[in-house]
Amino acid sequence: MQENLNVTGTLIWYYFICHREVWLMARNVVPDQDNSNVDLGRFIQEQSYQREKKEINLGHIKLDVISRGKEGLVIGEVKKTSKSEASARMQLAYYLSELEKLGLKAKGELRFPKEKRREIVELTDELRTKLDLAVRDILRIAYLEKPPGPIKIKYCKNCAYAEFCWS
Ligand code: SF4
Repeated sequence: MQENLNVTGTLIWYYFICHREVWLMARNVVPDQDNSNVDLGRFIQEQSYQREKKEINLGHIKLDVISRGKEGLVIGEVKKTSKSEASARMQLAYYLSELEKLGLKAKGELRFPKEKRREIVELTDELRTKLDLAVRDILRIAYLEKPPGPIKIKYCKNCAYAEFCWS
């Protein structure tokens, strides 16, 4: 276990799906790389919106910039489906709050290319409070000696850790 764990957008995303997965990812337990759903997610992320791809690198965070026009900075997050939309919204809100800490005001745009759908995310006080609680709880989980026990949820079916949890 690394001493200074960075809470990342990925951990935020998993926090709203499965706490066991948060522990496994935070501890760098390598998931099953052959899982085809993991590959599809990666493929969509790499192939979609390539034409307008620009990135901001903030240390451990890499963000896709959608536009920098008179409306201000807009960052985007591409997702395979909207099934985990609430998680995706919190992940994007986390990126917006990291930018805000650096004095950059931005909006977010969630993109679901397979569904040809987009959603704008703006940082509100409610989201800031929710994020703050999530970050603290992620750290609590990551420093647990053992992972939280598996709980069967619909995401288990496509989870790269399924074999680890259920065999
Ligand atoms: S298989 Fe299910 S319980 Fe295990 S890490 Fe994945 S989502 Fe969590």
